[in-house]
Amino acid sequence: MSLSTRIFVALGAGVLFGGLLNLLAPGWVEPLDQYLLQPVGDVFLRAIQLIVVPLVFAALIMGITQLRGKGYIARFTTKLMSLYVVTSAAAIILGLAVAFIVRPGSNAEAINTGDAAAADQGYSLVEWLVSIVPSNPFEALASGNLLQVIVIAALAGTAINLLKDEQTRPFLNVVESMYEIVQKVLQLVLKIAPFGVFALITSVVATQGFGIIGNLAVYILGLILAIILMIGLYILILFFAGVKPKIFFKGFASAFTLAFGTASSNAALPLALNGAQKAGLQSDLSGFAIPFGTALKRDGAGILQGFNAIFVAQLFGIDITIELVLAVFLSALLVSFSTAGVPGAGIIMMTTVLTAANLPLEGIAIVAGIDRVTEGFRTLLNVFGNTANASLLQQWENRRDRKMQKG
Ligand code: ASP
Repeated sequence: MSLSTRIFVALGAGVLFGGLLNLLAPGWVEPLDQYLLQPVGDVFLRAIQLIVVPLVFAALIMGITQLRGKGYIARFTTKLMSLYVVTSAAAIILGLAVAFIVRPGSNAEAINTGDAAAADQGYSLVEWLVSIVPSNPFEALASGNLLQVIVIAALAGTAINLLKDEQTRPFLNVVESMYEIVQKVLQLVLKIAPFGVFALITSVVATQGFGIIGNLAVYILGLILAIILMIGLYILILFFAGVKPKIFFKGFASAFTLAFGTASSNAALPLALNGAQKAGLQSDLSGFAIPFGTALKRDGAGILQGFNAIFVAQLFGIDITIELVLAVFLSALLVSFSTAGVPGAGIIMMTTVLTAANLPLEGIAIVAGIDRVTEGFRTLLNVFGNTANASLLQQWENRRDRKMQKG
């Protein structure tokens, strides 16, 4: 059985087992969750995350120094950022449009807006932009800030290219060897992936049950609908750009299933990186584009923020003006670029969008309880969007190469 099939089976088994536990043995749920499911799930999440920093660091330096040489980082960054802005904008517009059509917040009486407490984490764009440049490389590596790790690796790789081979060979040998070791560790960790995913999903379904969907069913289904539509749109774009969907899915299926099961884009990164070659991407390109997208590209978060803001406005009977929609759109766009790739990140960022649009923060507490239900879908889209954009960049580069050959 392939890895993606095993993870998929674990997902299904987790939903079934978790549902049965919740219905038939509710008394067992808490002890089982506390002493078995959560610890097993957390161990798996931590084990896969421990691979991310050394893998990104090594893959990026090798990409810059071995294969393509100088000058492509700026080109890749510009192309990727322009692709990201267009596709993220499309995702947010989809989230807004679906919220307008399905009206998730129109049954205000049924949804308790009474004693909701607001979350209070603030967010500053300027601070975030400044923090991309680390002040201490070892601290950046230790804290696992992916964007900072990319900056360090890009700087180190560029410096290596400017130095003589004998000055940098010992370091490159270490990096190459580190890459091989990390790959081996990854193979070992992936052996427990089905168990980890099973524990994570069983925990969610057993503790939350299907009853939790209740009054927020339109919200949940509407969000999932917007996510499915965005995936459909990506498949269309990929098809017209010349990417064969079959090859794309073959390469990235295991990353998608893991993203769904763990609700963490970071956890899915090693699988996305490893599947890239199978999906037809060159390793130097994917070694840059996949970590870059994992740090920045969150279509699922964009959809969530747009959809959720309209939901809150509908719920509290606030007039939805053009100014409000614009404020939501722009802040959701920024937030979609700065949501962390870990479970629970999307909900924290709601404060920014609701504040920007002058909407009540109480909305956050209302949806906090059901956030995990949609988070797997959102994370799947986050990884889908990242890998789709990397594939589009590959097509763009291929076209450039062909043109240069002709010229
Ligand atoms: N958990 C998501 C991710 O890792 C982020 C989110 O909450 O939207 O991509």
